Amino acid sequence: MMRIAVGGFQHETNTFAPSKAPYAAFEQADSWPALQKGPKLLTAFKGMNVPIAGFIDAAEAKEHELLPLVWCSATPSAHVTEEAYERIVEMLLDALGYAGEIDAVYLDLHGAMVTEHLEDGEGELLKRIRAAVGPKVPVVVSLDLHANVTADMVAYSDALIAYRTYPHVDMAETGARAAAHLDAIFAGLPRQAKAMRKIDFLIPLTAQCTLVEPSAGIYRDVAALEGAVLGNGRVSTVSFAGGFAPADIKDCSPTVIAYADTEAAAAEAANRVAREVNDAESRFREKLWSAHDAVAYGIANAGASGPIVLADTQDNPGAGGNGDTIGILRELIAQDAQRSALGVLFDPESAKQAAAAGEGARVRLKLGAKTGGANEEPVEEEFDVVRVTDGEFLATGPFYGGSRMSLGTTARLRKGGVEIVVASRKAQCADQEMLKHTGIEPAKLGILVVKSSVHFRADFGPLAREVLVVASPGPNIADLAKLPYRHLRKGVRVMPLGPAYAG
Ligand SMILES: [Zn+2]
Repeated sequence: MMRIAVGGFQHETNTFAPSKAPYAAFEQADSWPALQKGPKLLTAFKGMNVPIAGFIDAAEAKEHELLPLVWCSATPSAHVTEEAYERIVEMLLDALGYAGEIDAVYLDLHGAMVTEHLEDGEGELLKRIRAAVGPKVPVVVSLDLHANVTADMVAYSDALIAYRTYPHVDMAETGARAAAHLDAIFAGLPRQAKAMRKIDFLIPLTAQCTLVEPSAGIYRDVAALEGAVLGNGRVSTVSFAGGFAPADIKDCSPTVIAYADTEAAAAEAANRVAREVNDAESRFREKLWSAHDAVAYGIANAGASGPIVLADTQDNPGAGGNGDTIGILRELIAQDAQRSALGVLFDPESAKQAAAAGEGARVRLKLGAKTGGANEEPVEEEFDVVRVTDGEFLATGPFYGGSRMSLGTTARLRKGGVEIVVASRKAQCADQEMLKHTGIEPAKLGILVVKSSVHFRADFGPLAREVLVVASPGPNIADLAKLPYRHLRKGVRVMPLGPAYAG
């Protein structure tokens, strides 16, 4: 039985997004739980697809003693405020101090955190953790597939272990893999040699989906390398993080990380994956639709069963969007789309007004586009209030599965054949319950617009007749060549086969 300190601090930072993440954003619940500390941390995630949940289950099965630190997350946005970062890191380090003698540390991190004062939030956190526990205590970290991995993150941890699926259906499983790696260390795994390879081109989110090639094959090969003996060294764990491109920092790019008994084996494993990713560069390119063309196509091709799904990727709250741009909504109304729905539009003011008017009422609203950033005006129209809910429900799909969602006052509105789910909190539309709890049946729609890039595919993919990736206004710019980068590494291509960043 070992004593393991466990905690987490998750943020995916889109440095181009309109709003920052203050402490309150980490403290409150959203599609993930509120900030957890003390003994409650060990039970708060039961049954959820969250890395720390998988870690805790696996470690408890081995009867390790777990010492809770702090766990918190905030919806992706622009920079974490300096105040929030320092306060949360201090809480983590204080709790680590109270934990006393420990045998290991596990952290559930994202890997793409940028703060007001640091380009590499996780690297600095791990440096301080390492300083606190000393060089001998193993520090094992699970990471999001979208981590922008840095040399400091590699240097100050014993292992970084990233998800292998996007949609991230293996988050809990990745936590369990981190626990298994720690058990291997406890069982005498020699201190592992590390190799990191940065890839020299950025990959847009929608092109990273692991349900399709080239990512599907790359991740199969990454998994197959684990346990392989290369030369005279055995490979313990290998990760490929596709990176989070809308982050204007030096280390923004996909990364391969490999661990093995020997330097040569770690290097060979990392080189093999890097070569495969580089060879696939042209296959990471994909078609982007305009809102007008996508809605017209959806109307012309809608069928009786299963919606044509329009991914409003640029306003994806999972990538720093505010979930309130209305480019596609305007097209739905203008082209009089029937059996169509959009989820989930973030507009607390309209949700409140609709709730006040009540179900069955007709109310004039200025809908969406409240937080600015996309230079849009709200849609000013009369809407029928079909349903009002408290936004509390259990997610059931493979991505959010088991999470208790708290979207605040939520309204289902209707304008002709167009329905809109309007919520009081931002959340990526990646679970059918986000529509179903208002009475909308996604399977029966002709057109479904989701504020999501890829995660929606986990639960809506099986229903979809077709998926169109749409570039409507929003801060998660899909054509990365349009982003005003200033801090990338010189020479990085800002799209697959795209122009090189010149500095
Ligand atoms: Zn991710």
